[in-house]
Amino acid sequence: MATLILKRGAERRIRAGHPWVYRGEVADLRGAWSAGAAVDVADATGRFLGRGFYSPRSTLVCRLVTRADEPVDATLIHRRLETALHHRRTAGLDAAAYRLCWSEADGLPGLVVDRYGPVSVVQCLTLGMARHVEWVRQALERLFPGQELLRIDDPTAARIEGFDPVRDSREAALTIEEGAGRFVVSLGAGHKTGLYLDQRDNRLLAATLARGRRVLDTFCYAGGFACHALLGGASSALLIDSSADALAQARRNLEANGVHAGAKLHEGNAFDALRELDARHERFGLVILDPPPFTRHKTAVEAATRGYKEINLRALRLLEPGGLLLTFSCSHHITPALFEDICRQSAGDAGLRPRLLSTLTQSRDHPVLLPIPETRYLTGLLLQSTE
Ligand code: SAH
Repeated sequence: MATLILKRGAERRIRAGHPWVYRGEVADLRGAWSAGAAVDVADATGRFLGRGFYSPRSTLVCRLVTRADEPVDATLIHRRLETALHHRRTAGLDAAAYRLCWSEADGLPGLVVDRYGPVSVVQCLTLGMARHVEWVRQALERLFPGQELLRIDDPTAARIEGFDPVRDSREAALTIEEGAGRFVVSLGAGHKTGLYLDQRDNRLLAATLARGRRVLDTFCYAGGFACHALLGGASSALLIDSSADALAQARRNLEANGVHAGAKLHEGNAFDALRELDARHERFGLVILDPPPFTRHKTAVEAATRGYKEINLRALRLLEPGGLLLTFSCSHHITPALFEDICRQSAGDAGLRPRLLSTLTQSRDHPVLLPIPETRYLTGLLLQSTE
């Protein structure tokens, strides 16, 4: 097996519990290697630190899968997935649809596994995982004998890592129950692995906030927030998304929940729509802002900040007195502290002094590992307008 020898000092982060090795931290690659195969990682003195898959094309050339001197194989992947399942089951997180494996947070960097009823959806995010997906398949077969498995890779990750993304799809739609709601999911046809599972807890929260309120669900995708709000007693909901496909899914879900009569759908750019609603002096009792990541890179944080600032300013202006804003960012680079600061600036610019009712994050089946801040990416606030 080949060994990545790190530069002096580069082992510090790894010793502190973080699994990543950047290309610039590597002093030498010794021995015969092949792209995507396991390599040892050692410090400058040659001391063994761990083992992971080698990704020569990526700036993240290796992410440790183990810190022990053990084979990286189907047995190891099975053990990790078994632990992940045990955690979900004992914490009561194994809902109708849930994330079974969240990459680094579950000790399997580059692997996401979501469960939709009896179906496992596998997403490979590194070359090594894509090369060894058969081990994942074997491990899942042991955990869920005879059950279906689909693979739905993320094309962006595949491009960075240098493999061809696989996108399976499932002909028959599944209906997934979530709290009082139900969602029709066509696996392989939409975003993510099917649903934005990371927002589950926050959608359930929206249901408890909505009674009697007029709701605006911006960046609504499949309408999850609006469905829950209407089921929770909202008086009406306006759903906005720039994608006709997303709105078609939203319509299907509103109908599946029997709440379509109270809903209106609008196809368009949320930035423009928010401005137009304000110009018409429309006001809402609950506004949801759940945009796509405005940045995937550190370098674009400033531009992203401007985007978040603008939509939050506009959304705050649309609140009636006592109105609620559920606002989110799903860019890892926008930390909770920065996001709060952005919203503070939005409020300041709008001349408003909203109350901060709670800080929010991703659902608990997407665990955060303390030494790996990247495992937390979703941050949110629940704000309330004051007089
Ligand atoms: N709230 C959803 C997930 C939202 S994903 C849920 O819980 O399921 C983000 C959505 O924003 C996508 O559906 C995408 O089509 C939409 N979108 C992206 N840019 C947009 C824009 N400028 N205006 C309106 N919608 C946009």
